Amino acid sequence: MSLQGKVALVTGAASGIGEQCARKLAAQGAAVVIADLNLANAQKVADDIVAGGGKALAVSMDVTSEDAVNAGIEEAVAKLGSIDVLVSNAGIQIVNPIEEYAFADWKKMLAIHLDGAFLTTKAAIKQMYAAGKGGSIIYMGSVHSHEASKLKSAYVTAKHGLLGLARVVAKEGGSRGVRANVVCPGFVRTPLVDKQIPEQAKALGITEAQVVKDVMLKETVDGEFTTVDDVANTVAFLAGFESAALTGQSIVVSHGWFMQ
Ligand code: NAD
Repeated sequence: MSLQGKVALVTGAASGIGEQCARKLAAQGAAVVIADLNLANAQKVADDIVAGGGKALAVSMDVTSEDAVNAGIEEAVAKLGSIDVLVSNAGIQIVNPIEEYAFADWKKMLAIHLDGAFLTTKAAIKQMYAAGKGGSIIYMGSVHSHEASKLKSAYVTAKHGLLGLARVVAKEGGSRGVRANVVCPGFVRTPLVDKQIPEQAKALGITEAQVVKDVMLKETVDGEFTTVDDVANTVAFLAGFESAALTGQSIVVSHGWFMQ
């Protein structure tokens, strides 16, 4: 499944999972838009892809800002011609028990994960409809789109919400060739997870090694972390899938932590 001639925009692509998704999509022939709050890092990823013979553009984008999202998508279309694939991936994590969870943190989490998914979808789908070539929208969910964990009220709520959004987009976009799916990774060692290990150890009163073994990887079949490559391969598969046989779905990539 080649992505030659396609344009893929990945949010949060300056680091971790999003970065690897962008690199994988570029390796399969897509021109990739590295959209991130951190423009300096986005530019480094884009330069590296270009140095390797790929096509990439870095754009500054705060996914919680309608103006920033619209401007970033317009810049991408002006420079690269279309948006065929959207990977709505930007995300952060804030952990706390609910009785101590600051309302401001709750709103920040929902803004990045849900407003970001809505705003990027709204802007990208208009471009997909106008071009008349269909498209693939992929949301970065999580095992937490299906499961709950302590300390993660806002994250679990937001990641569950993405399933609903994807299903609506799948129904609305179906007649125009736009597919929407959710990829649901288990724990992946990225800066987002590295930051959580000491925070969870403190909140739960256990060691960092216990957080990894007894909290993060306890329910996996083999005690292994999922890798950025595992997730990027799944995203690339969904990006290149040819028909609406695969739409409105979630694919869990988690070493068996969650089985649906
Ligand atoms: P990461 O911290 O490595 O990368 C996140 C990127 O998002 C960063 O480059 C950051 O600058 C960007 N970002 C943050 N806020 C933004 C905003 N408002 N607008 C635009 N960009 C913004 O994190 P990661 O682990 O690669 O996570 C990526 C996605 O994968 C998130 O949605 C996360 O919830 C999801 N996820 C991660 C894991 C995991 O274990 N790491 C598991 C399941 C799902």
